[in-house]
Amino acid sequence: MLHRSSRRFLSTQRKGPGPAVQRLITIGEKWKQKTIRGFPKQEGQDKGSKYILCQFPYPSGMLHIGHLRVYVISDSLNRFYKQKGYDVIHPMGWDAFGLPAENAAIERRINPAIWTRENISKMKQQMESMLANFDWDREIATCDPEYYKFTQWIFLELFKNGLAYRKEAEINWDPVDKTVLANEQVDAQGRSWRSGAIVEKKQLKQWFLGITKFAPQLRKHLTQLKDWPSNVKQMQKNWIGESLGTELIFKVTDSRFEDLVVFTTRPETLFAVQYVALALDHPVVQKYCETIPDLKEFLSKCDVLPDDTKEGFHLPNINAVNPLTKEEIPIFVAPYVISGYGSAPSAVMGCPGHDSRDFEFWKQNCPGQHIKTCVTPFFDDTSKLSEKEKQELIETVPFTSTNGVMTKESGEHSGVFTGVARKSIVGKLHTEKLSKNIVRYKIRDWLISRQRYWGTPIPIIHCDSCGPVPVPESDLPVRLPDIKELNTKGNPLSTIDEFVNVDCPSCGSPAKRETDTMDTFIDSSWYYFRYLDPKNTSKPFDCEIASKHMPVDIYIGGVEHAILHLLYSRFIAKFLGSINAWDDPTGAFEPFKKLVTQGMVQGKTYIDPDTGRFLMSDELESINDSSDGNSVIIRANGKVPIVSYEKMSKSKHNGADPNACISKHGPDATRAHILFQSPVADALNWDESKIVGIERWLQKVLVLTKHILSLKGNLAISKEYKTPTDLNDAEVKLHNDVQRYLKSITESFEIHISLNTVISDYMKLTSVLEVALRKGEVRNEMMVQNLQKLVSSIYPVVPSISEEAAEMISSQMEWNQYQWPVVEHTTECQFKKFQIVVNGRVKFMYTADKNFLKLGRDAVIETLMKLPEGRMYLMNKKIKKFVMKYNVISFLFHK
Ligand SMILES: [Zn+2]
Repeated sequence: MLHRSSRRFLSTQRKGPGPAVQRLITIGEKWKQKTIRGFPKQEGQDKGSKYILCQFPYPSGMLHIGHLRVYVISDSLNRFYKQKGYDVIHPMGWDAFGLPAENAAIERRINPAIWTRENISKMKQQMESMLANFDWDREIATCDPEYYKFTQWIFLELFKNGLAYRKEAEINWDPVDKTVLANEQVDAQGRSWRSGAIVEKKQLKQWFLGITKFAPQLRKHLTQLKDWPSNVKQMQKNWIGESLGTELIFKVTDSRFEDLVVFTTRPETLFAVQYVALALDHPVVQKYCETIPDLKEFLSKCDVLPDDTKEGFHLPNINAVNPLTKEEIPIFVAPYVISGYGSAPSAVMGCPGHDSRDFEFWKQNCPGQHIKTCVTPFFDDTSKLSEKEKQELIETVPFTSTNGVMTKESGEHSGVFTGVARKSIVGKLHTEKLSKNIVRYKIRDWLISRQRYWGTPIPIIHCDSCGPVPVPESDLPVRLPDIKELNTKGNPLSTIDEFVNVDCPSCGSPAKRETDTMDTFIDSSWYYFRYLDPKNTSKPFDCEIASKHMPVDIYIGGVEHAILHLLYSRFIAKFLGSINAWDDPTGAFEPFKKLVTQGMVQGKTYIDPDTGRFLMSDELESINDSSDGNSVIIRANGKVPIVSYEKMSKSKHNGADPNACISKHGPDATRAHILFQSPVADALNWDESKIVGIERWLQKVLVLTKHILSLKGNLAISKEYKTPTDLNDAEVKLHNDVQRYLKSITESFEIHISLNTVISDYMKLTSVLEVALRKGEVRNEMMVQNLQKLVSSIYPVVPSISEEAAEMISSQMEWNQYQWPVVEHTTECQFKKFQIVVNGRVKFMYTADKNFLKLGRDAVIETLMKLPEGRMYLMNKKIKKFVMKYNVISFLFHK
């Protein structure tokens, strides 16, 4: 049996869709125009607005399966809330600037604008074929001058408020793409995320945005984001990196220099501090560099060192003074010290005995030298060791816990817990003006300069006498000059004289226009505001409109944007709040109320067990020994490949094309399948063969609709039809089952966003209607009523199947298919069937109020006697024994 069915499965696979599946495809085509427009707005049930937003795509020209997943999630929510009576804002646009378009344009020797426009129209078609209903009248593209005019406006506001500034900075330089990379765009091996080239360090004047000024709010308001996944909040928290600690003052023995300011969270380890390390750009280092050639050479070597390097350079003729012990200790230059951490030039104290990194550094730079300690564990299991053995242990591994007991090396603090010692040491140093408690953040200001063409031009003019001068607002946008063809690497803007040479807006003398463009993360940091007022020509958006609809109610996107995009958006939203561009009564100015991060879609991957090579589909052959027809062997050697699910990529031959899937199974089955396969937040293992289950369900819905509508004597039910009160057992069961599933579906949309549960509830709902139809115990009007509920409730996910079924129903009666079914109370059966037993045999059944027996013996008998069956079986007989219990009424008569 299994053998034959799997053969059949394979043969239908070869021939393409069978007639039943073909029907689903045809229905998708039939209703496409209607469902991509959505349904007409309902009168008189306005519940206010819902802003449902999915992350806008980069216009690559190809909708991939991850896009499909995010838009199906957001479109299902969009349709659900529309049915619930909300005025839903569900926009779509294009994150259109950036390197991929520029590189593609260079390859094709065209302007990136042309390539981008072509891709946008392709992707729009693909979105339509998946029946995504977006508000196209709100469409934006970040590369449109009407949009980037206001990206520039926001930049100028930041500039006016001292939050956009230019400074010389060491940058990550991609020698292949000839551009600056953000730290996040450099991988652990020091390679560019895009070109793969080893990234170089360079000093360059760059534009920064002062996100660090907002670090306290960005950190604090995370606690208000109750509807964000906790892992995302944790990632944001780590990135912002708040630490409560102490700034310590280390004086230096060279009077030319100011004191060193060192930040630490563990001042109690001062007794074991053995050196101070300075960042490469520290003024002391720069000064010494002038006279020590070796240091200069060391610095140039540092460019290529990995981030975790333990290299160091001992500065001769200068020491630092430990503020607590007054001991003089050496100063090193160390690339591991991050520059620009906090306000003061970067210096850190080195405590080899209590910090792993310092330990490694000390071992490498001062090999064989003594390691100091001043803290031991609470339970010191080394007490049996000799002094020599103890010292050997210290030399092997540092004790890094923040909790412990101070040792005799800490003088008056000996025997005290670290927490207590920490406070008293800071107190003592504070009176000497050598320490200060502060909060520090790890987050850096945002480097936004890009030396590329395809981005928003930075609206600044450099004048020799006035410095950087903002382009007057009336001159915005600073347009990207039209270039016929891009064929150079690097920044073409700097080579266009008409663009570069301008008069200073302030003094009128010849000046040069800034040629850097902005990081595309700025374009996407405010697009959700523009959607709300996309045609505004005088400002980015109207304050009142934005204040009415913000924050976004549900934001759906990939977890890969959990840090930077969300952080930058939160920063810009807060900044726009601070200049009164929008109002938030909570005062937090958080842009996204609820965040849904969908998991990655992974493809089925086949690997040759002998060679570890990824196999292509035509190297595999299906075999017929499995129930799902899904087993394969390697064609060349007959072996069974290793099967796994991995991130889709060309090299693994495991990609899936949403268009191919839609044309093979229809849009509705594809949509339901993608939701059904796994919970929204989890990774989705894409297996197209499992879509048959969904296809069968959709066919069932259509068949069920046809059969219920053809019930004999079926009267058209009115729009006001209410669930009757005199329900029989079967009707009670149907009513209660339907209510239970509807409640679960509604909550899955509204509360849990558990869309895989929605699909399984749809299937169960369909099934209870099927069972009721088969048994035939439910009155026809109720069958129709509950069919309507099913058809309306599936609309969010499978809109064209819902339309098709609704059309069949509407041909017989008037009803509103676009209204979300009201969840009614479940009911108990008012009636009960009683068995009337005479001399041990059931003679007839009687349906009565469930409390019938409570009337008492005489009333029960009297009622039964009046029935036609009662007259036949019970009249004129003498009762020997009478029992009534549960649903049994038993007579034993004298013979
Ligand atoms: Zn000037």
